[in-house]
Amino acid sequence: MDLSFTAEQEAFRRQVRTWIKANLPVRERDAPPLEQGDPKRIQAMKDWQRKLYGAGYVAMGWPKEYGGQAADVVQQTIVNEELVLARAPGLIGMMGIQMVGPTLMKFGSEEQKRRHLPHILNAEEIWCQGYSEPGSGSDLASLKTRAELVGDEFIVNGQKVWTSNAQHAHWMFCLVRTDPAAPKHKGISYLLIDMRSPGVTVRPLIQMTGDPGFNEVFFEDVRVPRQNLVGELHQGWQVANATLAHERNMLGSTTVTQHMFNGLLRLAQSRERGGRPAADDPVIRQRLADLLIRVEAMKYHAFRQLTDTIKKRPPGIGASVNKLVSTELNHDIAAMALEVMGSYGLLARNARHVVDRGSWPNEFMFTLGLVIGGGTSQIQKNIISERGLGMPRGA
Ligand SMILES: Cc1cc2nc3c(=O)[nH]c(=O)nc-3n(C[C@H](O)[C@H](O)[C@H](O)COP(=O)(O)OP(=O)(O)OC[C@H]3O[C@@H](n4cnc5c(N)ncnc54)[C@H](O)[C@@H]3O)c2cc1C
Repeated sequence: MDLSFTAEQEAFRRQVRTWIKANLPVRERDAPPLEQGDPKRIQAMKDWQRKLYGAGYVAMGWPKEYGGQAADVVQQTIVNEELVLARAPGLIGMMGIQMVGPTLMKFGSEEQKRRHLPHILNAEEIWCQGYSEPGSGSDLASLKTRAELVGDEFIVNGQKVWTSNAQHAHWMFCLVRTDPAAPKHKGISYLLIDMRSPGVTVRPLIQMTGDPGFNEVFFEDVRVPRQNLVGELHQGWQVANATLAHERNMLGSTTVTQHMFNGLLRLAQSRERGGRPAADDPVIRQRLADLLIRVEAMKYHAFRQLTDTIKKRPPGIGASVNKLVSTELNHDIAAMALEVMGSYGLLARNARHVVDRGSWPNEFMFTLGLVIGGGTSQIQKNIISERGLGMPRGA
């Protein structure tokens, strides 16, 4: 594996860095997350994605006819690294860009691609994921939301739960049961549902962060045109799994983890412990070093995945390793930050002496959620042991 960048790639990096410096408003650095639900924040995030896309730095690897540049993955990696270094906010349209977009490119009809992909890129339409239901999380294939094909329409009835960002979303990619008589994996279809359709009700749920990050979504006789079916009727499980692999990689972003670790380091350098910077305390230094080793190991795992992608090798269980390692590491980084802050870590985000705008207690709780969301750590370990290591299935 050659880990060095070419002269051309380094020149590209300088160009990206200059653009970010000129275009990222200072107030957007380390901005609070979308989950806090401020409408101005939502607009600011849409504007940021549009600007970044306009500059050619979003979904660079997508084919040109769908709004990308067919660029190699190293270029997008460089952009992502520079965004992290600049402490830029995440993209509001991530579920569109990283999950449903690539799925539509593989399984969608030409009409679906032309209708949806441009709006995903410029943040005009936000997407949410309608997979989990009450009683169907890890055992996703047991889902019960029904879709009955009547003429040219599906009539959808049922309920989804834990649907992140449904309250801002225009569209949902949704798993429904279209053949209740078939074995559970074989009677599922993948639909694109317009969230503005009559019969869709979104009810926010408050997470332990205190923010309404996810929702219950109810469907009551919701009419969905047949042309919104992705892939074949009753064959949605295969499509769903393609999206899941993309989700694991999205949640397992190395750049996000590096961003968090850099923040922890700044914190440890700026907070005092025993009359000197916390980062000078030998115990804290040891713990920081342990975390950094894990961050670096994750980075090299990401390079290995990048090499697999460039060489067009099958992805294997890399996405599950990514998801497992990064979400647990992110939570450990946030936990360490709370330790460094001592009792300041208990302050609410609007309290007078709050540190880093209260982002660390929020991260501590939010990252715990991500150990569960997108398939829990136990489920990722099952996948790695069965499909990666070839171990026998448990009872
Ligand atoms: C922050 C957050 C955001 C989310 N966003 C979305 C979203 O946008 N869209 C969406 O559809 N869903 C979303 N989810 C739901 C998420 O996918 C599920 O919570 C997750 O798949 C687990 O399902 P469950 O909650 O039903 O738990 P369960 O499946 O009931 O699991 C309970 C416990 O049992 C363990 N367990 C279950 N089965 C096994 C097994 N076979 N082997 C070993 N252990 C097992 C689990 O690891 C877990 O510890 C989100 C969840 C969170 C926390």
